[in-house]
Amino acid sequence: MKVIEHINQAKDTLISFEVLPPLKGKGINAIYNHLDPLMEFKPSFINVTYHRSETMFKKQADGSFNKIEVRKRPGTVGICAAIMQHYNVDPVPHLICGGFTREETENALIDLAFLGIDNVLVLRGDAAKNETFFEPEPGGNRYAIDLLKQVIDLNHGIYLEEEVKDPGKGTFCVGVAGYPEKHFEAPNKATDIAYLKAKVEAGAEYVVTQMFFDNQKYFDFVQSCRAAGINVPIIPGLKPITNKKQMTILPRTFHVDLPDELSAEIMKCKADADVELVGTEWLLNQSRELKKAGVPVLHYYTLGKPKVIWNVVKELV
Ligand code: FAD
Repeated sequence: MKVIEHINQAKDTLISFEVLPPLKGKGINAIYNHLDPLMEFKPSFINVTYHRSETMFKKQADGSFNKIEVRKRPGTVGICAAIMQHYNVDPVPHLICGGFTREETENALIDLAFLGIDNVLVLRGDAAKNETFFEPEPGGNRYAIDLLKQVIDLNHGIYLEEEVKDPGKGTFCVGVAGYPEKHFEAPNKATDIAYLKAKVEAGAEYVVTQMFFDNQKYFDFVQSCRAAGINVPIIPGLKPITNKKQMTILPRTFHVDLPDELSAEIMKCKADADVELVGTEWLLNQSRELKKAGVPVLHYYTLGKPKVIWNVVKELV
């Protein structure tokens, strides 16, 4: 079932989770162990993130360097198929532009459609570790909107090559990312929202936000989106703080601020176990307020911390 159908049929705020594929060499049980305790909350869908390969340069016998692509985690197609079969819940694979040609993207979409997966979240991806700015793969998509248009084309039965007569049409419900605190490369919030609006006009049916720790930023973002004519559901993305290192890692990696009150509470903590308690309480309060405000879905980035998410969601349902 499509994410947008889940939302349209819901009588209350839904719950969804996001998981990170395990490091290569680990099996699907790593995902099941992570998700098993959370399944009692009957998530409407489960997102699976994608992590692009890293480019490395390996020295050859003659002294020259050979470029190799090293993959750290398995791709999303297999994990999504396993989640769908094992839990009978809708998986939402993340598709990114970076590192993929349009042909490779089409191949992934063909596999997802074959498996009966109805949803994708389309993203640009970030610059590779050896790049300063994001560079698309030669023959790949540049922005999330280009990838989105490729998925929408496939939904209309338009493939890159027309070698099959009357090819089947995709039925993907497409989500996109939005940034309550602005995407770090956008010159200002209005421009960022204008590009978001373009993604919605091109066929995105809902938006999932970057994490935020101050609900007012989400409420203001939704208001700005509505004023700009973006009328699709805007799903808040929520992440727990569980250790002191995140005080610097989260702003640096995700370009989000931590409210003064939250950072002051974290600074008082002696051990990470105490930070986890503060983070759990903060996330619970955020969730309660968002639910009260009638958000369509509470989407939790569970990444490595299913117990914290369990502790929060059990207080809500
Ligand atoms: P875009 O929408 O393409 O926007 C990128 C930048 O370009 C923005 O500054 C925007 O304002 C600007 N822009 C957009 N369109 C245009 C245009 N036509 N012309 C000029 N400028 C334009 N990354 C991963 O690698 N894997 C994941 O699984 C993953 N999951 C994510 C899930 C969520 C909910 C979010 C919020 C982010 C996720 N990311 C993931 C990170 C994401 O890939 C990065 O934030 C990336 O830098 C931007 O992706 P985007 O889809 O928002 O890009």
